[in-house]
Amino acid sequence: MSLIVKKFGGTSVADAQRLNHVAKLIVGDYKKGHDIVVVVSAQGDHTDRLINQAAEINPDGASKREMDVLMSAGEQISASLLAMAIEAMGCPAVSLMGWQAGFKTDSNYTFARIKRLEPDRIKAELAKKNVVVIAGFQGINQYDDITTFGRGGSDTSAVAVAATLKANLCQIYTDVDGVYTADPRLVTNAKKIPVITYDEMLELASLGAQVLNSRSVEMAKKYNVELEVRSSFTDEPGTLVKENVKMEKMVIRGVAKDTDLSTIYITGLNDAPGIAFKIFNRLAQHGIVVDLIMHTAESHGKTDIMFSIKGSDCTEAIKAIESLRDSLNFEAVEHDDDVAKISVVGSGIASHPGVAAKMFEALYEYGISIKMIATGEIKLSVIVAAKDADRGVKAVHDAFIQ
Ligand code: ADP
Ligand code: ASP
Ligand code: MG
Repeated sequence: MSLIVKKFGGTSVADAQRLNHVAKLIVGDYKKGHDIVVVVSAQGDHTDRLINQAAEINPDGASKREMDVLMSAGEQISASLLAMAIEAMGCPAVSLMGWQAGFKTDSNYTFARIKRLEPDRIKAELAKKNVVVIAGFQGINQYDDITTFGRGGSDTSAVAVAATLKANLCQIYTDVDGVYTADPRLVTNAKKIPVITYDEMLELASLGAQVLNSRSVEMAKKYNVELEVRSSFTDEPGTLVKENVKMEKMVIRGVAKDTDLSTIYITGLNDAPGIAFKIFNRLAQHGIVVDLIMHTAESHGKTDIMFSIKGSDCTEAIKAIESLRDSLNFEAVEHDDDVAKISVVGSGIASHPGVAAKMFEALYEYGISIKMIATGEIKLSVIVAAKDADRGVKAVHDAFIQ
């Protein structure tokens, strides 16, 4: 007998028919004698709808604490409905909200980190032979307030349960049958990847491949939880995410696209030691993570600095830079939200010549101009105009993946 953690995303539990189908999968494994813990997302686009409702009530932005109370409700509904569906099939089940399941988090509302999982209640319910259905993406902080883990955070809930209970299997059921070399909805000839390392998956996820939440991969790597990404619609074998995949030569694993970013341009800076420090230190004080950075060569004592950040940080970043206007004496600070990042990911990119040239050639052939470039050990990213993003992904995918 083994312990299996199964996570079902929004599409997999979207309506009564889907819930019943998922319940059947769960009951099937339960009847084989396994202990089952299930983590669910909100149904379909319920989280988006809740966010829109908040925006109607408070267009200036509701407090993050109240957003968490609201957003956690989506998973409360899907968890209880799924437990009911399982019960209706004659199998004992109990739903638990994040706080009941023991998820203790920090107080970073809407993007909280799990500090620890106290699994006593989960264990007690398993001992009673219940299927335990946990509401994903939520926990409780030191003030007994509900917190959520950021969009797509149910993946992280599942990995935390699997790590803490030392599960034999952690299955992430979604609406595609595995991790592909690019988003299969965008690139029709994308190929399924049978096995991928944590590091490669982490890069793909952080660079925009939404199929797994990047924090969940980070945690899976840390606690060595092997993940199986598979479809709740078909019985196809999925993708294994694990350590140490055998590889002799460099392999491009995939191409990812991220459209949730903005670029900021600070022009006409007086070139002097310390300007980069002052800018990026101020951004750090505002809690803003900077991604790509470009610094132009000095000309007549003046220089420009450009960088990219998450789209949602743009207003705050402009505010932070404006607060330095007197000390830095720059000419202008501008931003561009219509940008996207295209990345290729694969082990050994840094040590193989020609990868960058091949990517740039592919974009050139499609007439796509590059605004910024960044390289890493196992990734290569460029920023392009948002309108070029989808064509760019296809071009780069075709160049690297036959
Ligand atoms: P869930 O609701 O099950 O968590 P998500 O919508 O978060 O599902 O993630 C699944 C989606 O991720 C797919 O529908 C697919 O369009 C998208 N996706 C993006 N990049 C990839 C990729 N490289 N491989 C597979 N799916 C991807
Ligand atoms: N329901 C949340 C979201 O839509 C969390 C999740 O699905 O993982 O982002
Ligand atoms: Mg998801």
